[in-house]
Amino acid sequence: MRTARLSVLSENVTANWPVTLSINARWTVGAARAPRSGTIAPALARFDAHTHLFAPSQAARRAGIAARDATFAEMYGDPKAAMATLPELLAALDGAGIARAVAAGFAFTSAADIEEQNASLLDAARDSDGRVVALATVNPALAGWERAAEAALAGGARGFGELRPHNQGWDPDGRAAHDLCELAGAHGAVLLWHVSEPVGHAYPGKRGGIAPEELIRLAAAHPGVRMVAAHLGAGLSFYLQMPEVRAAIEFLYFDTAAYPLLYDEQSVMRLVALAGTKRVLFGSDYPLLSPARQLRRLEAVLGEDVAEAVCGGNAETLFSGNHTQ
Ligand SMILES: [Zn+2]
Repeated sequence: MRTARLSVLSENVTANWPVTLSINARWTVGAARAPRSGTIAPALARFDAHTHLFAPSQAARRAGIAARDATFAEMYGDPKAAMATLPELLAALDGAGIARAVAAGFAFTSAADIEEQNASLLDAARDSDGRVVALATVNPALAGWERAAEAALAGGARGFGELRPHNQGWDPDGRAAHDLCELAGAHGAVLLWHVSEPVGHAYPGKRGGIAPEELIRLAAAHPGVRMVAAHLGAGLSFYLQMPEVRAAIEFLYFDTAAYPLLYDEQSVMRLVALAGTKRVLFGSDYPLLSPARQLRRLEAVLGEDVAEAVCGGNAETLFSGNHTQ
């Protein structure tokens, strides 16, 4: 299995990535991101800060897992709901001219499912020569979760997510949530939260994340811990206009995952206006949406200068650990 996966990967790399990418690669390659005529420096590498990967072994056991994990059943029980593996993610990135991606799995409830998933995510990060940044799954409702979390970080994970406290049965205002933030802060790890919109239409997986007010409280209690509020933060950014809130959550970032399914086309520009260019990260929510289409959409509305930061530079800084804020 491992040999087969690696051979697919090396084909992709050979065919589409003639230049070896390092963890800190700053410049993209290939025709997809060629510089405009008259400019000297090429465009910064594009970085998709929100994708999902599954272990092939778990994708193959979809029905069995759905029978014991209610949230998984809601989101992936339908065989038409896409579950991507590493070669598929790399092919999607190649097709979009995207250099790197953050890959999270799914917020399983059981320790065995989490262990299987995290091993696969860490393999993906290693096998992709740094193109894939792994966020491990953690469930602070389980006894001994700290050991599993620290083992994932030691194995190369850059943080945890996509976090769904209410689905997993832990309180984002409770002790375990604060312990998770302290663990993340001690290791420079990033926390990616599924923020649940309190209003609007229903969709699989909408409920069970963290509410905007819960995330504001938690982030304010742990200044300096880097957190990402997915899906434009579910309206949380409005409260950045309150000076004391803005000051309290200065290390909270926002990603654009799946925004066209939730908001109108100008919503990302409004978020950039509220949060600032440096705190917004392009994320596609692949395989739910196409990275190529989402990237082109964002580049069109943001313009080149803002897109350089939002679609690449910000994630590079955040996930390389070279924070400058
Ligand atoms: Zn989400």
